[in-house]
Amino acid sequence: MEKLTERQNSNESSLSSSVPSVVSPSCEDVIPDLNFTTVRKWKDQHPGAKAIGYFPVYAPLEIIHACGMLPVGLNGAGDQLDIQYADARFGSFICSIVKTTLEMGMTKHLTPFDGLLFSTICDSARNLAFVFKRNFPEQYVDFLHLPHNPSSEASVDFLMSEYARLQENLEQLGGTKLTDAALNESIELYNENRRLTRRLYDERDGNPQLMRTSELYALIRAGNFLPVEEHTKLLKQAVDELPTRAGKQRDSIRVVIEGSFCEQPPVDLIKIMEEAGCYIVDDDFVLGPRWFTKDVSVNGNPMRALADAYSNASVYSSMPHDWRNPRHKQLIEKARRRKADAVILLIAKFCEPAYFDYVLFKQELEKEGIPHLLMEFEEKMFTFERLRTEIETFVESLLFD
Ligand code: SF4
Repeated sequence: MEKLTERQNSNESSLSSSVPSVVSPSCEDVIPDLNFTTVRKWKDQHPGAKAIGYFPVYAPLEIIHACGMLPVGLNGAGDQLDIQYADARFGSFICSIVKTTLEMGMTKHLTPFDGLLFSTICDSARNLAFVFKRNFPEQYVDFLHLPHNPSSEASVDFLMSEYARLQENLEQLGGTKLTDAALNESIELYNENRRLTRRLYDERDGNPQLMRTSELYALIRAGNFLPVEEHTKLLKQAVDELPTRAGKQRDSIRVVIEGSFCEQPPVDLIKIMEEAGCYIVDDDFVLGPRWFTKDVSVNGNPMRALADAYSNASVYSSMPHDWRNPRHKQLIEKARRRKADAVILLIAKFCEPAYFDYVLFKQELEKEGIPHLLMEFEEKMFTFERLRTEIETFVESLLFD
């Protein structure tokens, strides 16, 4: 392993304290804020305007934005909330994000939201939508049926009809008619945001010693709570500041993280992985806001452009089943492109889609001879000693192979 040997020559064994942070500390502060201060502030600044919370993974943010509303990604409550009510409405073997999202509703943390949007991921998420509908009959709760098979010829028209239904409901809720011009403007704003995000991912891949993944993660995840215009400014600032950074190579292996597409791991867990000797060079964290792999077209019917992008330019994930390019093949392609030494399958406890995919991923990784490690997390965990030991052992086994 030539690359690993090169890195072993470095004296730097921990994150360099000389590296200044490109990310405002407020990004990390926004993530656990269950009062949704940024959302309340936006609503104060835009009297009468509505905020729509959406459950991971994907939502058509452009349509919500073009209706004059603030789309807000809901990522559960982390370790901020004890479950008192949600347990009575769900069985025991359910992932944490489903329970804490419902708990946020039951404890009135979701009052800044005028509507909640769910979509097709798994049985738990689908049931959560209808548990919300039953428990909050006065609230607008919608469920978006996303095509499972984007390679089907019918998927674009089907999704357009779902978007049209959502548009009608949002227009009714907000009292504003959506125009093609407004939707194209929103698409351009989100295209720019995604372009900058892709740029930061590529920069980190090229120079992982210059940007910690824990920083990038906080920066991207903060975008769930901020207006896209504001978040794009932060991304630009991060891109502009990167060349001013300095950082020495560390004794680290390059890893791709896979499996955290819905419930999100605690920031501290990502920090521990980095301290243990991982350069995380790609991941599937906070996938919704960076859903498209290229710009969505703004020349033509914007609804069709969005539906077409969903079918033909989505990131791979455990949601749609794209037989044209199966996700286990795409994981291998990603690991090769990022020159990864290993893949860490970081899966939320009780996440059925991720565990179903684990079987496929494991088979393919073994076939390709790519080392891999399965780690399970919960968003609410706050002690990481067992996981620290697992990851340190894994890293050492590769570094000193
Ligand atoms: S974490 Fe997994 S099981 Fe839970 S809602 Fe998300 S996709 Fe479904």
